[in-house]
Amino acid sequence: MFDALVVGAGPAGLAIAAALCDEGLNVAGLAPVPPPVEWVNTYGIWCDELEPMNLTHLLSHRWQNSVMYAAQRKVALGRDYGLFDNGKLQNYFLERCDRGKMVWHQGTAAAVEHFAHHSSVTTAEGTALSARVVIDASGHNPALLDRPKSEAIAYQAAYGIVGKFSSPPIDPQQFVLMDYRADHLSPEERRAPPTFLYAMDLGNDVFFVEETSLSNSPAVTFEVLQQRLEQRLAFRGVQVKEVQHVEYCLFPMNLPLPSLDQAVMGFGGAASMVHPASGYMVGALLRRAPGVAKTIARAVENPNASPESIATSAWQTLWTSDEMRKRALYLFGLENLMRFEEQTLQAFFASFFRLPRSQWSAFLANTFSTPEMLQTMMNLFGYTTNEVRWNLVRSAWNERALLWNVLVG
Ligand SMILES: Cc1cc2nc3c(=O)[nH]c(=O)nc-3n(C[C@H](O)[C@H](O)[C@H](O)COP(=O)(O)OP(=O)(O)OC[C@H]3O[C@@H](n4cnc5c(N)ncnc54)[C@H](O)[C@@H]3O)c2cc1C
Repeated sequence: MFDALVVGAGPAGLAIAAALCDEGLNVAGLAPVPPPVEWVNTYGIWCDELEPMNLTHLLSHRWQNSVMYAAQRKVALGRDYGLFDNGKLQNYFLERCDRGKMVWHQGTAAAVEHFAHHSSVTTAEGTALSARVVIDASGHNPALLDRPKSEAIAYQAAYGIVGKFSSPPIDPQQFVLMDYRADHLSPEERRAPPTFLYAMDLGNDVFFVEETSLSNSPAVTFEVLQQRLEQRLAFRGVQVKEVQHVEYCLFPMNLPLPSLDQAVMGFGGAASMVHPASGYMVGALLRRAPGVAKTIARAVENPNASPESIATSAWQTLWTSDEMRKRALYLFGLENLMRFEEQTLQAFFASFFRLPRSQWSAFLANTFSTPEMLQTMMNLFGYTTNEVRWNLVRSAWNERALLWNVLVG
Protein backbone atom coordinates (compact mmCIF):
# COMPACT_ATOMS: atom_id res chain seq x y z
CA MET A 1 0.00 0.00 0.00
CA PHE A 2 1.38 3.42 -0.99
CA ASP A 3 1.07 6.49 1.20
CA ALA A 4 0.11 8.62 -1.80
CA LEU A 5 -0.81 8.00 -5.43
CA VAL A 6 -0.21 10.94 -7.79
CA VAL A 7 -2.28 10.88 -10.98
CA GLY A 8 -0.63 12.83 -13.83
CA ALA A 9 2.93 13.60 -14.92
CA GLY A 10 2.64 17.26 -15.91
CA PRO A 11 4.32 20.04 -13.90
CA ALA A 12 1.71 19.72 -11.12
CA GLY A 13 2.02 15.94 -10.79
CA LEU A 14 5.79 16.06 -10.67
CA ALA A 15 5.91 19.05 -8.30
CA ILE A 16 3.65 17.41 -5.73
CA ALA A 17 5.23 13.95 -6.18
CA ALA A 18 8.72 15.40 -5.56
CA ALA A 19 7.51 17.29 -2.47
CA LEU A 20 5.83 14.16 -1.08
CA CYS A 21 9.05 12.19 -1.63
CA ASP A 22 10.97 14.95 0.20
CA GLU A 23 8.68 14.22 3.15
CA GLY A 24 9.79 10.58 3.11
CA LEU A 25 6.43 9.20 1.95
CA ASN A 26 6.07 6.06 -0.10
CA VAL A 27 4.72 7.52 -3.36
CA ALA A 28 3.40 6.00 -6.59
CA GLY A 29 2.59 7.79 -9.83
CA LEU A 30 0.13 7.00 -12.61
CA ALA A 31 0.17 8.51 -16.09
CA PRO A 32 -0.64 7.37 -19.64
CA VAL A 33 3.01 8.14 -20.48
CA PRO A 34 5.14 7.91 -17.32
CA PRO A 35 8.17 10.22 -16.96
CA PRO A 36 10.44 11.22 -18.47
CA VAL A 37 7.89 12.74 -20.83
CA GLU A 38 8.20 15.54 -23.32
CA TRP A 39 6.44 18.71 -22.16
CA VAL A 40 5.71 20.68 -25.31
CA ASN A 41 4.36 23.85 -23.67
CA THR A 42 6.70 26.83 -23.37
CA TYR A 43 6.67 27.72 -19.67
CA GLY A 44 7.67 31.26 -18.79
CA ILE A 45 8.09 32.84 -15.35
CA TRP A 46 9.35 36.04 -13.74
CA CYS A 47 12.88 35.41 -12.47
CA ASP A 48 12.24 36.97 -9.07
CA GLU A 49 9.71 34.18 -8.42
CA LEU A 50 12.53 31.63 -8.79
CA GLU A 51 15.28 33.57 -6.99
CA PRO A 52 13.99 32.99 -3.41
CA MET A 53 13.91 29.25 -4.19
CA ASN A 54 17.39 29.32 -5.82
CA LEU A 55 15.95 27.82 -8.99
CA THR A 56 17.05 30.22 -11.73
CA HIS A 57 19.39 27.48 -13.04
CA LEU A 58 16.24 25.76 -14.40
CA LEU A 59 15.88 28.47 -17.05
CA SER A 60 17.02 28.15 -20.65
CA HIS A 61 16.71 31.89 -21.35
CA ARG A 62 16.60 35.05 -19.30
CA TRP A 63 15.74 38.59 -20.49
CA GLN A 64 16.49 41.88 -18.78
CA ASN A 65 14.89 43.95 -21.51
CA SER A 66 11.23 43.18 -20.80
CA VAL A 67 8.59 45.55 -22.18
CA MET A 68 4.90 45.93 -22.88
CA TYR A 69 2.98 48.16 -25.29
CA ALA A 70 -0.48 49.60 -24.66
CA ALA A 71 -2.30 52.88 -25.30
CA GLN A 72 0.46 54.18 -27.64
CA ARG A 73 3.01 53.65 -24.91
CA LYS A 74 5.98 51.40 -24.55
CA VAL A 75 6.53 50.54 -20.88
CA ALA A 76 9.92 49.18 -19.77
CA LEU A 77 8.99 46.65 -17.09
CA GLY A 78 12.38 46.59 -15.34
CA ARG A 79 11.90 42.97 -14.29
CA ASP A 80 13.76 39.91 -15.58
CA TYR A 81 11.69 37.24 -17.31
CA GLY A 82 12.75 33.66 -17.97
CA LEU A 83 11.82 30.61 -19.99
CA PHE A 84 12.11 27.21 -18.37
CA ASP A 85 14.30 24.52 -19.85
CA ASN A 86 11.57 21.86 -19.64
CA GLY A 87 14.13 19.05 -19.36
CA LYS A 88 15.86 20.75 -16.41
CA LEU A 89 12.56 21.52 -14.69
CA GLN A 90 11.44 17.93 -15.08
CA ASN A 91 14.80 16.53 -13.86
CA TYR A 92 14.66 18.80 -10.84
CA PHE A 93 11.44 17.04 -9.83
CA LEU A 94 12.41 13.53 -10.98
CA GLU A 95 15.72 13.47 -9.08
CA ARG A 96 13.78 14.07 -5.88
CA CYS A 97 11.23 11.37 -6.87
CA ASP A 98 14.12 8.96 -7.51
CA ARG A 99 15.66 9.73 -4.11
CA GLY A 100 12.28 8.74 -2.61
CA LYS A 101 12.31 5.52 -4.68
CA MET A 102 9.02 6.57 -6.26
CA VAL A 103 7.40 4.09 -8.65
CA TRP A 104 5.60 5.23 -11.82
CA HIS A 105 2.83 3.11 -13.36
CA GLN A 106 1.59 3.40 -16.91
CA GLY A 107 -2.18 3.79 -17.26
CA THR A 108 -5.17 6.12 -17.42
CA ALA A 109 -7.09 6.67 -14.19
CA ALA A 110 -10.75 5.87 -14.78
CA ALA A 111 -12.43 5.52 -11.36
CA VAL A 112 -11.72 5.78 -7.64
CA GLU A 113 -13.26 3.96 -4.72
CA HIS A 114 -12.78 4.89 -1.08
CA PHE A 115 -12.48 2.55 1.90
CA ALA A 116 -11.98 3.21 5.62
CA HIS A 117 -8.19 3.60 5.43
CA HIS A 118 -7.30 3.74 1.74
CA SER A 119 -8.53 4.59 -1.76
CA SER A 120 -8.25 2.42 -4.85
CA VAL A 121 -7.87 3.80 -8.38
CA THR A 122 -8.84 1.63 -11.33
CA THR A 123 -7.30 2.35 -14.70
CA ALA A 124 -8.94 2.16 -18.11
CA GLU A 125 -6.54 -0.73 -18.77
CA GLY A 126 -8.03 -2.65 -15.81
CA THR A 127 -5.33 -2.44 -13.12
CA ALA A 128 -5.96 -1.19 -9.58
CA LEU A 129 -3.63 0.86 -7.36
CA SER A 130 -4.22 1.51 -3.67
CA ALA A 131 -2.93 4.35 -1.50
CA ARG A 132 -3.82 6.14 1.72
CA VAL A 133 -4.64 9.22 -0.37
CA VAL A 134 -4.96 9.97 -4.09
CA ILE A 135 -3.79 13.28 -5.55
CA ASP A 136 -5.39 14.09 -8.88
CA ALA A 137 -2.97 16.20 -10.93
CA SER A 138 -4.37 15.18 -14.30
CA GLY A 139 -4.81 18.73 -15.60
CA HIS A 140 -7.62 21.21 -16.15
CA ASN A 141 -10.15 18.48 -16.94
CA PRO A 142 -9.41 16.15 -14.02
CA ALA A 143 -9.94 12.41 -14.17
CA LEU A 144 -11.23 11.81 -10.63
CA LEU A 145 -12.15 15.08 -8.93
CA ASP A 146 -15.68 16.40 -8.43
CA ARG A 147 -16.06 19.98 -9.56
CA PRO A 148 -19.31 21.96 -9.84
CA LYS A 149 -20.40 22.55 -13.44
CA SER A 150 -20.07 26.07 -14.79
CA GLU A 151 -21.69 27.53 -17.89
CA ALA A 152 -19.42 30.43 -18.76
CA ILE A 153 -15.88 29.10 -18.78
CA ALA A 154 -13.38 31.65 -20.10
CA TYR A 155 -10.26 30.40 -21.86
CA GLN A 156 -6.81 31.74 -22.48
CA ALA A 157 -5.98 30.90 -26.09
CA ALA A 158 -2.82 31.52 -28.08
CA TYR A 159 -1.24 30.57 -31.38
CA GLY A 160 2.53 30.82 -31.49
CA ILE A 161 5.46 30.09 -33.77
CA VAL A 162 9.08 29.42 -32.89
CA GLY A 163 11.06 30.17 -36.02
CA LYS A 164 13.17 32.43 -38.19
CA PHE A 165 11.90 35.59 -39.82
CA SER A 166 12.89 37.89 -42.70
CA SER A 167 13.75 40.56 -40.11
CA PRO A 168 13.54 40.55 -36.29
CA PRO A 169 9.85 40.67 -35.24
CA ILE A 170 10.89 42.34 -31.96
CA ASP A 171 14.06 44.08 -30.81
CA PRO A 172 17.09 41.85 -30.32
CA GLN A 173 17.44 40.40 -26.78
CA GLN A 174 13.98 41.58 -25.92
CA PHE A 175 11.03 39.97 -24.14
CA VAL A 176 7.58 41.41 -24.92
CA LEU A 177 5.04 40.49 -22.25
CA MET A 178 2.14 42.02 -24.16
CA ASP A 179 1.95 44.18 -27.23
CA TYR A 180 -1.63 45.38 -27.53
CA ARG A 181 -0.92 47.71 -30.48
CA ALA A 182 -3.74 47.13 -32.93
CA ASP A 183 -3.12 49.60 -35.76
CA HIS A 184 -2.85 46.66 -38.17
CA LEU A 185 -6.55 45.85 -37.62
CA SER A 186 -9.60 47.41 -39.28
CA PRO A 187 -12.11 49.29 -37.06
CA GLU A 188 -14.43 46.28 -37.32
CA GLU A 189 -11.68 43.84 -36.30
CA ARG A 190 -10.88 46.07 -33.34
CA ARG A 191 -14.40 45.52 -32.03
CA ALA A 192 -13.75 41.76 -31.74
CA PRO A 193 -12.17 40.40 -28.50
CA PRO A 194 -8.71 42.00 -28.15
CA THR A 195 -5.54 39.94 -28.58
CA PHE A 196 -1.89 40.78 -27.93
CA LEU A 197 1.56 39.64 -28.98
CA TYR A 198 3.71 37.70 -26.46
CA ALA A 199 7.20 37.39 -27.92
CA MET A 200 10.83 36.65 -27.11
CA ASP A 201 14.20 36.60 -28.81
CA LEU A 202 15.55 33.06 -28.33
CA GLY A 203 18.96 33.85 -29.85
CA ASN A 204 20.65 32.67 -33.07
CA ASP A 205 18.01 34.53 -35.15
CA VAL A 206 15.21 32.43 -33.63
CA PHE A 207 12.16 34.16 -32.13
CA PHE A 208 8.99 32.98 -30.41
CA VAL A 209 5.96 35.06 -31.39
CA GLU A 210 2.53 34.23 -30.01
CA GLU A 211 -0.82 35.95 -30.58
CA THR A 212 -2.73 35.62 -27.32
CA SER A 213 -6.22 36.17 -26.05
CA LEU A 214 -5.86 36.74 -22.30
CA SER A 215 -9.29 35.37 -21.56
CA ASN A 216 -12.55 35.06 -23.42
CA SER A 217 -15.74 33.06 -23.33
CA PRO A 218 -16.06 31.42 -25.78
CA ALA A 219 -12.36 31.00 -26.53
CA VAL A 220 -10.91 32.96 -29.44
CA THR A 221 -10.25 30.34 -32.12
CA PHE A 222 -6.78 29.30 -33.31
CA GLU A 223 -7.78 30.38 -36.86
CA VAL A 224 -8.46 33.94 -35.69
CA LEU A 225 -5.26 34.01 -33.62
CA GLN A 226 -3.14 32.71 -36.51
CA GLN A 227 -4.66 35.24 -38.89
CA ARG A 228 -4.06 38.06 -36.42
CA LEU A 229 -0.44 37.01 -35.92
CA GLU A 230 0.10 36.96 -39.69
CA GLN A 231 -1.56 40.39 -40.04
CA ARG A 232 0.57 41.81 -37.23
CA LEU A 233 3.82 40.50 -38.72
CA ALA A 234 2.87 41.59 -42.28
CA PHE A 235 2.05 45.11 -41.03
CA ARG A 236 5.63 45.32 -39.75
CA GLY A 237 7.01 43.93 -43.00
CA VAL A 238 8.11 40.67 -41.35
CA GLN A 239 7.78 37.33 -43.16
CA VAL A 240 8.08 33.88 -41.57
CA LYS A 241 11.10 32.10 -43.12
CA GLU A 242 11.23 28.88 -41.10
CA VAL A 243 8.82 27.31 -38.59
CA GLN A 244 10.50 25.15 -35.94
CA HIS A 245 7.55 24.64 -33.60
CA VAL A 246 3.90 25.69 -33.45
CA GLU A 247 2.26 26.18 -30.06
CA TYR A 248 -1.50 25.81 -29.69
CA CYS A 249 -2.40 27.04 -26.24
CA LEU A 250 -5.85 26.66 -24.72
CA PHE A 251 -6.76 26.37 -21.06
CA PRO A 252 -9.56 27.51 -18.74
CA MET A 253 -9.03 30.58 -16.55
CA ASN A 254 -12.05 30.63 -14.23
CA LEU A 255 -13.01 27.05 -13.48
CA PRO A 256 -14.91 26.73 -10.20
CA LEU A 257 -12.98 25.26 -7.30
CA PRO A 258 -13.38 21.51 -6.90
CA SER A 259 -15.48 20.43 -3.88
CA LEU A 260 -13.12 20.79 -0.93
CA ASP A 261 -14.72 18.03 1.14
CA GLN A 262 -14.05 15.18 -1.26
CA ALA A 263 -11.80 12.21 -0.50
CA VAL A 264 -9.45 12.88 -3.45
CA MET A 265 -6.95 15.74 -3.22
CA GLY A 266 -6.11 17.82 -6.32
CA PHE A 267 -3.10 19.83 -7.42
CA GLY A 268 -2.36 22.09 -10.40
CA GLY A 269 -4.89 22.68 -13.16
CA ALA A 270 -7.06 19.96 -11.60
CA ALA A 271 -7.32 22.04 -8.41
CA SER A 272 -8.08 25.29 -10.30
CA MET A 273 -4.66 26.73 -9.37
CA VAL A 274 -4.20 28.73 -12.58
CA HIS A 275 -3.91 32.44 -11.74
CA PRO A 276 -7.31 33.72 -12.91
CA ALA A 277 -5.98 37.11 -14.00
CA SER A 278 -2.83 36.02 -15.86
CA GLY A 279 -3.00 32.27 -16.64
CA TYR A 280 0.34 31.55 -14.91
CA MET A 281 0.69 28.57 -12.59
CA VAL A 282 4.19 27.04 -12.55
CA GLY A 283 5.51 29.49 -9.91
CA ALA A 284 2.52 28.64 -7.69
CA LEU A 285 3.21 24.91 -8.11
CA LEU A 286 6.79 25.35 -6.94
CA ARG A 287 5.77 27.55 -4.00
CA ARG A 288 2.74 25.58 -2.83
CA ALA A 289 3.80 21.91 -3.25
CA PRO A 290 6.00 21.71 -0.09
CA GLY A 291 3.26 23.01 2.22
CA VAL A 292 0.60 20.69 0.81
CA ALA A 293 3.01 17.72 0.99
CA LYS A 294 3.82 18.51 4.65
CA THR A 295 0.14 18.50 5.54
CA ILE A 296 -0.37 15.15 3.79
CA ALA A 297 2.71 13.68 5.52
CA ARG A 298 1.39 14.76 8.92
CA ALA A 299 -2.09 13.39 8.17
CA VAL A 300 -0.91 9.93 7.05
CA GLU A 301 1.08 9.53 10.27
CA ASN A 302 -2.26 8.62 11.86
CA PRO A 303 -2.84 5.01 10.73
CA ASN A 304 -6.59 5.38 11.26
CA ALA A 305 -6.99 8.50 9.15
CA SER A 306 -9.50 8.06 6.32
CA PRO A 307 -8.71 9.22 2.75
CA GLU A 308 -11.37 11.90 3.26
CA SER A 309 -9.75 13.31 6.41
CA ILE A 310 -6.29 13.33 4.77
CA ALA A 311 -7.64 15.02 1.64
CA THR A 312 -9.66 17.53 3.65
CA SER A 313 -6.62 18.70 5.61
CA ALA A 314 -4.67 19.06 2.34
CA TRP A 315 -7.51 21.02 0.68
CA GLN A 316 -7.58 23.34 3.69
CA THR A 317 -3.86 23.98 3.28
CA LEU A 318 -4.19 24.71 -0.44
CA TRP A 319 -7.40 26.71 -0.39
CA THR A 320 -7.36 28.69 2.85
CA SER A 321 -10.15 31.22 3.29
CA ASP A 322 -7.66 34.01 2.46
CA GLU A 323 -6.64 32.25 -0.77
CA MET A 324 -10.30 31.84 -1.69
CA ARG A 325 -10.99 35.51 -1.00
CA LYS A 326 -8.06 36.55 -3.21
CA ARG A 327 -9.28 34.22 -5.91
CA ALA A 328 -12.71 35.85 -5.79
CA LEU A 329 -10.98 39.24 -6.25
CA TYR A 330 -8.97 37.95 -9.20
CA LEU A 331 -12.11 36.50 -10.75
CA PHE A 332 -13.78 39.86 -10.31
CA GLY A 333 -10.80 41.48 -12.07
CA LEU A 334 -10.98 38.95 -14.87
CA GLU A 335 -14.69 39.59 -15.46
CA ASN A 336 -13.89 43.31 -15.71
CA LEU A 337 -11.14 42.75 -18.23
CA MET A 338 -13.34 40.57 -20.41
CA ARG A 339 -16.01 43.29 -20.58
CA PHE A 340 -13.58 46.02 -21.62
CA GLU A 341 -13.41 47.13 -25.22
CA GLU A 342 -9.97 47.13 -26.79
CA GLN A 343 -9.08 50.77 -26.05
CA THR A 344 -10.27 50.58 -22.44
CA LEU A 345 -8.27 47.38 -21.98
CA GLN A 346 -5.17 49.09 -23.35
CA ALA A 347 -5.68 52.05 -21.01
CA PHE A 348 -6.14 49.64 -18.10
CA PHE A 349 -2.87 47.78 -18.76
CA ALA A 350 -0.95 51.00 -19.39
CA SER A 351 -2.02 52.11 -15.88
CA PHE A 352 -1.51 48.70 -14.28
CA PHE A 353 2.14 48.47 -15.37
CA ARG A 354 2.79 52.02 -14.17
CA LEU A 355 1.99 50.93 -10.59
CA PRO A 356 5.11 50.49 -8.43
CA ARG A 357 6.81 47.33 -9.69
CA SER A 358 6.55 45.62 -6.30
CA GLN A 359 2.76 46.01 -6.49
CA TRP A 360 2.08 44.72 -9.98
CA SER A 361 4.64 41.92 -9.46
CA ALA A 362 2.99 40.65 -6.28
CA PHE A 363 -0.44 40.99 -7.90
CA LEU A 364 0.62 38.81 -10.82
CA ALA A 365 2.43 36.25 -8.64
CA ASN A 366 -0.39 36.11 -6.07
CA THR A 367 2.00 36.73 -3.19
CA PHE A 368 -0.12 39.53 -1.64
CA SER A 369 -2.46 39.31 1.33
CA THR A 370 -6.08 40.30 0.62
CA PRO A 371 -5.70 43.81 2.16
CA GLU A 372 -2.53 44.46 0.11
CA MET A 373 -4.34 43.33 -3.00
CA LEU A 374 -7.30 45.59 -2.32
CA GLN A 375 -4.91 48.49 -1.68
CA THR A 376 -3.24 47.91 -5.06
CA MET A 377 -6.61 47.86 -6.78
CA MET A 378 -7.54 51.14 -5.10
CA ASN A 379 -4.21 52.68 -6.16
CA LEU A 380 -4.89 51.65 -9.73
CA PHE A 381 -8.36 53.15 -9.57
CA GLY A 382 -6.84 56.37 -8.24
CA TYR A 383 -4.64 57.12 -11.19
CA THR A 384 -6.07 55.36 -14.21
CA THR A 385 -8.16 57.18 -16.83
CA ASN A 386 -11.75 58.29 -16.23
CA GLU A 387 -12.90 55.90 -18.90
CA VAL A 388 -11.34 52.91 -17.11
CA ARG A 389 -12.74 54.16 -13.78
CA TRP A 390 -16.24 54.42 -15.17
CA ASN A 391 -15.99 50.90 -16.65
CA LEU A 392 -14.70 49.52 -13.35
CA VAL A 393 -17.61 51.05 -11.43
CA ARG A 394 -20.08 49.68 -13.97
CA SER A 395 -18.58 46.18 -13.80
CA ALA A 396 -18.40 46.32 -10.01
CA TRP A 397 -22.17 46.70 -10.09
CA ASN A 398 -22.65 43.95 -12.68
CA GLU A 399 -20.30 41.61 -10.81
CA ARG A 400 -21.54 42.46 -7.31
CA ALA A 401 -22.07 38.73 -6.60
CA LEU A 402 -18.33 38.13 -7.08
CA LEU A 403 -17.49 41.11 -4.85
CA TRP A 404 -19.81 39.71 -2.21
CA ASN A 405 -17.74 36.47 -2.31
CA VAL A 406 -14.66 38.57 -1.49
CA LEU A 407 -16.35 40.03 1.56
CA VAL A 408 -17.80 36.79 2.91
CA GLY A 409 -14.82 34.62 1.87
C1 LIG B 1 0.51 25.93 -24.31
C2 LIG B 1 0.47 26.36 -22.87
C3 LIG B 1 1.43 27.26 -22.40
C4 LIG B 1 1.43 27.63 -21.05
N1 LIG B 1 2.38 28.50 -20.64
C5 LIG B 1 2.48 28.78 -19.32
C6 LIG B 1 3.54 29.61 -18.86
O1 LIG B 1 4.31 30.17 -19.65
N2 LIG B 1 3.69 29.80 -17.52
C7 LIG B 1 2.80 29.23 -16.61
O2 LIG B 1 2.98 29.41 -15.40
N3 LIG B 1 1.74 28.51 -17.05
C8 LIG B 1 1.56 28.26 -18.36
N4 LIG B 1 0.51 27.49 -18.80
C9 LIG B 1 -0.58 27.15 -17.84
C10 LIG B 1 -0.31 25.90 -16.97
O3 LIG B 1 0.88 26.08 -16.23
C11 LIG B 1 -0.25 24.63 -17.81
O4 LIG B 1 -1.53 24.36 -18.34
C12 LIG B 1 0.27 23.37 -17.07
O5 LIG B 1 0.70 22.45 -18.02
C13 LIG B 1 -0.77 22.69 -16.18
O6 LIG B 1 -0.10 21.69 -15.46
P1 LIG B 1 -0.81 20.39 -14.89
O7 LIG B 1 0.29 19.48 -14.47
O8 LIG B 1 -1.86 20.78 -13.94
O9 LIG B 1 -1.57 19.74 -16.16
P2 LIG B 1 -0.96 19.13 -17.49
O10 LIG B 1 0.29 19.79 -17.87
O11 LIG B 1 -2.11 19.13 -18.46
O12 LIG B 1 -0.60 17.62 -17.12
C14 LIG B 1 -1.61 16.65 -16.86
C15 LIG B 1 -0.98 15.28 -16.74
O13 LIG B 1 -1.99 14.34 -16.36
C16 LIG B 1 -1.98 13.22 -17.25
N5 LIG B 1 -3.34 12.69 -17.31
C17 LIG B 1 -4.43 13.22 -17.91
N6 LIG B 1 -5.49 12.42 -17.73
C18 LIG B 1 -5.06 11.35 -16.99
C19 LIG B 1 -5.69 10.21 -16.47
N7 LIG B 1 -7.00 9.96 -16.68
N8 LIG B 1 -4.94 9.33 -15.78
C20 LIG B 1 -3.61 9.54 -15.56
N9 LIG B 1 -2.96 10.64 -16.02
C21 LIG B 1 -3.69 11.53 -16.72
C22 LIG B 1 -1.46 13.81 -18.56
O14 LIG B 1 -0.98 12.81 -19.41
C23 LIG B 1 -0.37 14.74 -18.03
O15 LIG B 1 0.76 13.98 -17.69
C24 LIG B 1 0.45 27.12 -20.15
C25 LIG B 1 -0.53 26.24 -20.65
C26 LIG B 1 -0.52 25.87 -21.98
C27 LIG B 1 -1.60 24.92 -22.48
